[in-house]
Amino acid sequence: MARVYNFSAGPSMLPESVLAKAAAEMMDYQGSGQSVMEMSHRSKVYQGIFDETMALLREVMQIPDNYKVLFLQGGASTQFEMIPMNLMVGSGKADYVVTGQFSKKAYKEAKRFGEVKLVASSEDKTFSYIPKLDPATFTPDADYFYICMNNTIFGTVYHDLPETGDVPLVADASSCILSRPIDVSKFGILYAGAQKNMAPAGVTVVIIREDLIGKNENLATMQNYATHAENDSMYNTPPCYSIYMMKLVLEWIKNEVGGLDKMLERNEKKAGILYDYLDNSKLFKNPVAKEDRSLMNVPFVTGDADLDAKFVKEAAAAGFVNIKGHRSVGGMRASIYNAMPIEGVEKLVAFMKKFEEENA
Ligand SMILES: *Cc1c(COP(=O)(O)O)cnc(C)c1O
Repeated sequence: MARVYNFSAGPSMLPESVLAKAAAEMMDYQGSGQSVMEMSHRSKVYQGIFDETMALLREVMQIPDNYKVLFLQGGASTQFEMIPMNLMVGSGKADYVVTGQFSKKAYKEAKRFGEVKLVASSEDKTFSYIPKLDPATFTPDADYFYICMNNTIFGTVYHDLPETGDVPLVADASSCILSRPIDVSKFGILYAGAQKNMAPAGVTVVIIREDLIGKNENLATMQNYATHAENDSMYNTPPCYSIYMMKLVLEWIKNEVGGLDKMLERNEKKAGILYDYLDNSKLFKNPVAKEDRSLMNVPFVTGDADLDAKFVKEAAAAGFVNIKGHRSVGGMRASIYNAMPIEGVEKLVAFMKKFEEENA
């Protein structure tokens, strides 16, 4: 069976060589006589996989020594509450920038736990840009400052980070982690659900500066970062298989792609092919402010809902699947995460050109 080009926003494509390796190791992981799915998380063989994944992530992302890496469950959405619960215990204040649906959810969640300031929002223009931020409007004694780095639904990304001084910057990087080098030292917490760029759904990676761990002693055990930090993410059963898959993805980035600098080069080239076409097309257009465009999620519209629907249908029949825009915005969206090959985008653009000619 031929594989389709899957433009899903998440869960999304995984590199073919990763899937092939997982398949080859499925019945008998490296002579253990078991699948990784079946292993005790306390076994020596699984601990080896776990430790290697952790070391690879630290190496590939160049995570400084004063940060802990936690492998948690509950998806990125659980961090919307864990962040305020764990951090909002100094002044009880936090600043939020709302640039899409996920940061809006995080903002709403945080309001349950303290005094939250909406520093800026781009909702006035359907989240099609990243607001210019003025540090004079930031809360000087906030416990943290929150952003969503790449806005999966709307296709925007922060090219410059807010200057928050001593206030820890907390960022949701679910849809851009591992797509480029990120200077982790600029963040208090950087976190991501795995299912966009790291692994199948199941594991959530939380990279947290050590001094931000254990600030709130009144939390339930599983909600406290300290529990997971003190137990090296093995307080309870971790999402074992998803972590193993992350190991394979990290090996792919390190050995086949050549690291995150090379990953970025590839992603820029790949997204460039699509944006160049969109900028010259008379039928399709990308609604996002040019300077804020994401390399990972590329929304586009024809301006005619019926024509959009026709495109989505014909694209699927031609093997370009999940290209429909999010239900809240309509139109189309091509999510072109790390694992989408360049030829997938080249073929999509050729298909779009043909559609444009046929529907001119
Ligand atoms: C997908 C996504 C989420 C939600 O992730 P879950 O793992 O489904 O909770 C949150 N933030 C961003 C930026 C996302 O892309």
